[in-house]
Amino acid sequence: LPANYAPSSDCLQDKVILVTGAGDGIGRAAALSFAKHGATVILLGRTTDKLEAVYDEIEAGGHPQPAIYPMHLRGATAHDFEALADTLEREFGRLDGLLHNAAVLGQRRSLAQTTLDSWEEVMQVNVNAPFMLTQALLPLMAKSNSASIIFTSSSVGRKGRAFWGAYAVSKFANEAMMQILADEEFELNGIRCNSINPGATNTTMRRTAYPGEDPSTNPDPEALMPLYLYLMSAEGADVNGQQFDAQPKG
Ligand code: NDP
Repeated sequence: LPANYAPSSDCLQDKVILVTGAGDGIGRAAALSFAKHGATVILLGRTTDKLEAVYDEIEAGGHPQPAIYPMHLRGATAHDFEALADTLEREFGRLDGLLHNAAVLGQRRSLAQTTLDSWEEVMQVNVNAPFMLTQALLPLMAKSNSASIIFTSSSVGRKGRAFWGAYAVSKFANEAMMQILADEEFELNGIRCNSINPGATNTTMRRTAYPGEDPSTNPDPEALMPLYLYLMSAEGADVNGQQFDAQPKG
């Protein structure tokens, strides 16, 4: 992120951006922030009440009217993602941004103890879903004049660590998808692709992973938003295939 980067209030004007897991945590903050900076945001998630609350907050702020797309990624099939792509094609004709944010933590256990059920759930939500979603939406993103895909990683998606099991493996897979897509799509279709490791952030997921920790020691998701805005906006238009940390390491 360039030093002293300060996003302008209209840096995402006229952009159409889909956020997965938009009802809570980092996804919620990103959806609100993208809308506040001018984007029309498609709110995808599994809990409709939460998506509606974000929708209402965006409307109350006088930002571009968002859209809600409830979807449970655990059971979603390629057919569901094709239906989503058809709807977006009809409503918007293109897609400028895609934030892969939804994820599940799974069991915090050794690989030796990880159950196949939990492994499969984590792979379905964290890996298969973003793969299918990306595949379905690439044609719509190729119609944008400057499309951006962000994958959400983790420190354990860059270096394996005991007891992070399927979640860590799924985050490595997200980094790999990011690198492959960056290499395949940027020159061909002008679609850039990068990953963000949010770092410890005060959300439900963090509180679940670290029950003994004082939640207030971690920043709220809003603090991370400059990097998300940068990668979605014209200022990040030449950035491709890079791994970012939203917080200084330490
Ligand atoms: P939260 O658990 O707070 O939010 C995750 C969001 O994803 C929720 O809105 C949740 O929906 C949604 N979601 C989960 N499963 C599904 C599903 N099957 N179908 C549809 N939506 C689903 O997590 P964070 O905000 O903390 O995490 C966001 C991203 O950041 C994740 O990719 C996570 O791995 C990553 N991350 C987070 C860190 C942190 O410290 N918080 C650190 C490193 C990485 P619902 O609200 O209905 O449960």
